[in-house]
Amino acid sequence: MESTIQAAPSCADPFDVESISLDDALQRIAARINPVGQTEILPLRQCLGRINASDVVSPRNIPPKANSAMDGYAVAMDNIEEAGLTELKIAGTAFAGVPYEGSTARGECIRIMTGAIIPEGVDTVIMQEQVESVDEQTIRVDANHRTGENIRKAGEDITDGQIILEAGIKISPADLGVVASLGIGNLSVYRRPVVAFFSTGDELVGIGETLEDGKIFDSNRYSLHGLLSQLPVDILDLGVIRDNPEDIREGLSKAAEQADLILTTGGVSVGEADYIKNVLEELGDTEFWKIAIKPGRPLTLGQIGDSHFLGLPGNPVAVMVTFCQFVIPAIQRLSGVEIQAPRLFKATSDDSMRKKPGRTEFQRGIAEQDVNGDWRVRRTGKQGSGILTSMSRANCFIVLPPEQANIEPGDEVTIQFFDWFIPQF
Ligand code: AMP
Ligand code: MG
Repeated sequence: MESTIQAAPSCADPFDVESISLDDALQRIAARINPVGQTEILPLRQCLGRINASDVVSPRNIPPKANSAMDGYAVAMDNIEEAGLTELKIAGTAFAGVPYEGSTARGECIRIMTGAIIPEGVDTVIMQEQVESVDEQTIRVDANHRTGENIRKAGEDITDGQIILEAGIKISPADLGVVASLGIGNLSVYRRPVVAFFSTGDELVGIGETLEDGKIFDSNRYSLHGLLSQLPVDILDLGVIRDNPEDIREGLSKAAEQADLILTTGGVSVGEADYIKNVLEELGDTEFWKIAIKPGRPLTLGQIGDSHFLGLPGNPVAVMVTFCQFVIPAIQRLSGVEIQAPRLFKATSDDSMRKKPGRTEFQRGIAEQDVNGDWRVRRTGKQGSGILTSMSRANCFIVLPPEQANIEPGDEVTIQFFDWFIPQF
């Protein structure tokens, strides 16, 4: 008789030939998920954070006319002596919104306010701080001026016909201002994708319910609510579904009627009570993956009717890791924006870390800048995929790539800040 057990493949294995890489998984997600595509026209203020659906072309120059960048005196430079001082008579005043309509003779200037249109016959604005007052009608200027100074040229910010906002970008506060400066009051934006999610598990109870032996409070729906609330999606929390095929079938079918993307947590490993797999195979077109990452190895991608499906692992940290790495790109794709890889920073590790080659690991880290502005990072402590406090204490993932072996203090590592996942969208 053999003295050791031939273990079946499991998520404790460092490397598994059936596993696919992180990049491979991302490419497959991008290939399967299509943008929602439908658009709506909204008043400008409501477009903040939405994805622009068509190029916005400027109907005018901004600024429309040359105007003054300063309070001062508008002059024609060929009136000013090349050396010494020149006296100029004030012929009138140009206000922002009330142009000076008259003309200027030789030896004259015009009092001008910031934003006022540059009158005919002048080419330069001299700041009021740089002139001397002779009397109420006369000023004196020196020769230290340059033709065109303090004038904002017509079209120096935006030119007539220029594409000012491209389709596919997320509309920022500055974009709202730019579009308003053109006098445009509505934009065409993509419909927000609807994302439905539910937890699976017989062990889960809701807050306020009694925690009997063997039960745990459902935390995944709260982390998912938090993550999804920061994205330009409409969210549907479908609660907890018990581990039986009937409930799962009904839950998935109902979700598919309403959502562009369905997320579930739990029930996709090889546990006896994990029924999602069978139901999915029956309802739709599904791929089951083992991804060479830790935590977050099992992941399911599929389609039920017109809805996309992403089955996340059950462990709370794995849920958040797979959300950041896979669900955000999936939602970017659904929303009509380019998938953007999270930004990576280099940091010096203060800790040692054990790392098995062959998979990408996402350790939870606390990164801080040292006095030179360089990043240093330490681990949050225990790194199990059920230790959710590791996520709440951390401000970044320490990303250890497949080829990486153990880390010693002082080694350089790569980090991904959590707050990059959302602005990057
Ligand atoms: P599963 O993939 O369903 O086997 O779940 C893996 C682990 O994650 C188990 O310890 C579950 O109890 C736990 N888990 C699953 N779903 C949740 C949830 N919604 N909230 C907290 N823990 C969960
Ligand atoms: Mg379960």
